[in-house]
Amino acid sequence: MSETARPPAAGPGAEAGRCRVCERSLTGNRACCPNPLCASASRWFRWNISAAERSGPLEAALNAYKYRGVREWAPVFGGMLAGLMERRRHLVEPFDLITASPTFVGQGGRDFDHIRLMLVEAAGQVPCGRVWPFDTGPVPAIVKTRPTPRLAWLDHRQRRRVAEEQLRPALDVPDRSRTAGRRILVVDDVFTDGRTLDEVARALHLQGGARQVCGLALCRQPWRDRAAATAAALPSRAVAAPFPRPLDAPAPDLAS
Ligand SMILES: [Zn+2]
Repeated sequence: MSETARPPAAGPGAEAGRCRVCERSLTGNRACCPNPLCASASRWFRWNISAAERSGPLEAALNAYKYRGVREWAPVFGGMLAGLMERRRHLVEPFDLITASPTFVGQGGRDFDHIRLMLVEAAGQVPCGRVWPFDTGPVPAIVKTRPTPRLAWLDHRQRRRVAEEQLRPALDVPDRSRTAGRRILVVDDVFTDGRTLDEVARALHLQGGARQVCGLALCRQPWRDRAAATAAALPSRAVAAPFPRPLDAPAPDLAS
């Protein structure tokens, strides 16, 4: 696929009052999603669905799993993903491949592939008799070849720059024959503003020849307008563009 032949922006047919790309609730007088990527004509993924909001006990459990290696949460998160797939099976069934958003494991990266482990658990918990095309073989359809900075704590502009300049060259599709012409669902732990998913989708399209890429996340990061927050704290100052609420996560120098 060329740089200009991008997938259309149709969403998953979400209920009224929600973004048709990320399914965030459109609260207040808002007629469109605060996430700039959802309205972007240059977006590479079509939509993302999530099992839950990233808050409360789920947020604490995910942080323990992701940052402190409490792997006992993997079956729980895998079960949540399997449940979401079953509830939204009319959306999931058309996909030819369900793969994990790539993680770099090794020096400078993570101790274990937390997303792929969730995917393996989900594959083991789908309803008996249902055959989903999980990408759980020895070599994933898309890999990350080196660690990259975490996007948490960064604003939109910084997230985009890191994604384009550092994540983009780190992504590799090792076997095009597995992805060419395929509809691919990318599983991740958190959907914030979609920058990571967009780069993964871009690589799957441009390197892998994918036909369509969408996302399925364990949870969606709640959104808060910097405009509203700033106006409340400093009413006389000019306000900036919306941004995702920073993750309640440890040191921002951890790679992902
Ligand atoms: Zn949206």
